[in-house]
Amino acid sequence: MPLRPLDYKAPEGGVRPGAFVEVPLGPRRVKGVVWGPGAGDFPLEKLKAISAVLDAPPLPRDLRDFLERAAAYTLTPLPLMVRLATRVPGLGDPPQMRRLLRATGQRPEKLTEARARVLDALEEFGGAALPLADLTRAAGVGSSVVKGLISMGAIREEEVAKDAPYPRLDPARPGRPLSGDQAAAAESLRQGLRSGSYGTTMLKGVTGSGKTEVYLEAVAECLAMGKQALVLLPEIALTADFMARVEARFGARPGEWHSGMTTTERRRLWKMCAEGGVGMVAGARSALFLPFQNLGLIVVDEEHDTSYKQEDGVYYSARDMAVLRASMGGARVVLASATPSLETWVNAHEGRYGRIDLLSRFGTAELPEMRAVDLRKSGLPSGKWIAPEVADAIQGRLQAGEQSLLFMNRRGYAPVTICRACGNQIACNHCDARMVEHRYLGKLVCHQCGDSRPVPPECPSCHVEGKLVAIGPGVERMAEEAQALFPEAKVKILSSDLYTSSRALKADIEAIAGGEGDIIVGTQIVAKGHNFPLLTLVGVVDADLGLQGSDLRAAERTFQLMRQVAGRAGRTGRRGLALLQTHQPEHPVIRAILSGDEEGFWRTEAEARKLHAMPPYGRLAGIIITANDPQLAFDIGNHLARSARPLQAIGAEVWGPAPAPIARIEGRHRVRLLIKASRRAPLQAALTDWLKGLKLPANARVAVDIDPQSF
Ligand code: ADP
Ligand code: ZN
Repeated sequence: MPLRPLDYKAPEGGVRPGAFVEVPLGPRRVKGVVWGPGAGDFPLEKLKAISAVLDAPPLPRDLRDFLERAAAYTLTPLPLMVRLATRVPGLGDPPQMRRLLRATGQRPEKLTEARARVLDALEEFGGAALPLADLTRAAGVGSSVVKGLISMGAIREEEVAKDAPYPRLDPARPGRPLSGDQAAAAESLRQGLRSGSYGTTMLKGVTGSGKTEVYLEAVAECLAMGKQALVLLPEIALTADFMARVEARFGARPGEWHSGMTTTERRRLWKMCAEGGVGMVAGARSALFLPFQNLGLIVVDEEHDTSYKQEDGVYYSARDMAVLRASMGGARVVLASATPSLETWVNAHEGRYGRIDLLSRFGTAELPEMRAVDLRKSGLPSGKWIAPEVADAIQGRLQAGEQSLLFMNRRGYAPVTICRACGNQIACNHCDARMVEHRYLGKLVCHQCGDSRPVPPECPSCHVEGKLVAIGPGVERMAEEAQALFPEAKVKILSSDLYTSSRALKADIEAIAGGEGDIIVGTQIVAKGHNFPLLTLVGVVDADLGLQGSDLRAAERTFQLMRQVAGRAGRTGRRGLALLQTHQPEHPVIRAILSGDEEGFWRTEAEARKLHAMPPYGRLAGIIITANDPQLAFDIGNHLARSARPLQAIGAEVWGPAPAPIARIEGRHRVRLLIKASRRAPLQAALTDWLKGLKLPANARVAVDIDPQSF
């Protein structure tokens, strides 16, 4: 992939910017997008010609402008950014048709029994057109019977484009009656939309307060104005419930965009975005790069979620890019969360974003009561993690026929496998991570690079047999402990590694919501917005887990996660209880979680960041250097750090090189420099200037991560 636009000779009569074309590149022919007139500095006689202009909707002008700005902001080579918007297989291929069969109404008098069944089946479907496979199945006949009817003129074949418009969502259908707070919030969002100009609003409301209900009213207004709406969701597993709610509200489902779609669906949605054949799209972060014809609203649900940050190939934050895209196109943004990111909170606090609060849960549901369980006093025997107080509470729920959730943010059985003979801890061969035992899979798995191998019978270091032991808790071990404590209870584990498909995960989430399972043991996938009506108790096994380590965001993350997890309890009817097992109940973050003083927490966090001029009061950029050899990566880092004059010129500081947050992945070593600049310094320009002359050995790479997640 070339890292800058290439020049080609346009065909007779020219070609439109944004058009999809095929061009020669070396020995191959590749697809590309026409960006604009070339710089004119390439010898004309050497210029190759565009081979073909493809029959696909061109990339709209506003999307191209957005991609340019996004590339400039994230310091991504433009072609890599453009690829995010054009990675649609088969774009420009001739339109794919589907053959459907329909009765002509001429029913021959003499029919074999099989042929009569076919015509009856078509009648049963109300004269609709059906694909051959559906028809033969419905009539219980082979395809030759149908062919016979076609040649008799009783059935007609029709060609229908696969890329058809989506069913229209009807914004005029009445929604559910809203509470006073909800109605006021919805009205405020509607007014924003009617203004027709850009604006971002933080929609903050405790879990269960009806944020979804409220922003769907904004979607309704957007659709009624004839504009398109995009809702970004962090997790595919969440979409089933969401799709059903949209259908209940608008009478049809939105277009879906995520990695689990077929290529046919992908192409259809892409085209319909460009042609206005879809009103609402729900999707993953990359939906932000769809070629909307007339985008009026972007909702980022659970806007604090870390999955909105992509750190693979192109580094970008979908939340920030949503704001950029909307601001360029006069659209509105709603950032919804019970626990907003500090950045968003500060933006609202300082008046750059609007703010709407939903303060109570909808209906009679109350927020759960939260208490600490002091592990220093609970006298837990070693190798056990469920404190007696939590066990008692679970016992109570079992008797009442309610569900309990044990939360442990660690996949697998145990985080460490150690040899009791020699003390060796089993580590990954490719990363500097320990291997994590996954007992259900019967494997040791590296959580950094995904490498796995069977659990060995002997220590790989000293070769003594039978001395390997599991140290520390993971969800699987918690499930084992819970089952031993409550042999009669049905214990279910919800952890992403136990599912091979998102469909299976969805099905389990729905089963739990339907009341299956007495004790749910889960990792953070349970924290994300699911609605479990029978769940009234949450036990956090290790509330201190996220507070270790030196990451400045640790407090923010722990606060968000704990509040989200606790919010799973008591979403309907009975009041929930959340118990946090901790060794440090006096820790300010734990105290803030328990007291529920959210504003106080954010204010304190914001002040700490301000004091150190850290984001969002200062700006950071990570320079990630990847090489086969750690010394080489450090050498490049040191060389860069020593030659940072363009950065000094804007008053920026250079920290490092230090091992990157993921220091070794798939055998490649990663080293990071952190650049810290003031909020208004021209950081991108200085970085470009600094990195432009850099010559790298073939086996090393440098990538820029603007606004890194961890620091
Ligand atoms: P949030 O997105 O803030 O977690 P939801 O929109 O999912 O909240 O609402 C929480 C629950 O309350 C859902 O089951 C939803 O159907 C219900 N709910 C919220 N508002 C209303 C309303 N106005 N009428 C009926 N049910 C509502
Ligand atoms: Zn590894």
